[in-house]
Amino acid sequence: MIAIYLEDDNGKLHEYMLFNPKIISHSVENTYLESGEGCLSVDREVSGFVPRHARVKVKAFDIDGKEVTLKLKGLPSIAIQHEIDHLDGIMFYDHIDKENPFKVCLITQHEMSDRKNTGLLIARCFFRFLKKSDLF
Ligand SMILES: [Zn+2]
Repeated sequence: MIAIYLEDDNGKLHEYMLFNPKIISHSVENTYLESGEGCLSVDREVSGFVPRHARVKVKAFDIDGKEVTLKLKGLPSIAIQHEIDHLDGIMFYDHIDKENPFKVCLITQHEMSDRKNTGLLIARCFFRFLKKSDLF
């Protein structure tokens, strides 16, 4: 079971209590929080980017046992991936590149439209190397 309670960038409240949530599809595009991620179950700060799917479609059951499907993007999408990972025993820092904590593989919107135009099937990755001091 996971619980999410947060506001997205538009001030919309996302309040979910979900049982057996499963990601049934996700975007090719990735995203990450520039501030990195934190966790109430981790009593220390772990620096580094945590690559996530930009958008996810999740199937789950609500408290009444009714099946629900959610399509999420932005912060709620990141949060639900973080929470579903917990159910699988995966912590956010497991996704951080050990050698380059601030490296991410980003497929941007621009690249997505390029890909459609050229019909390329192989997505290119953009690697960004940033120091933590660049972030604030
Ligand atoms: Zn957590």
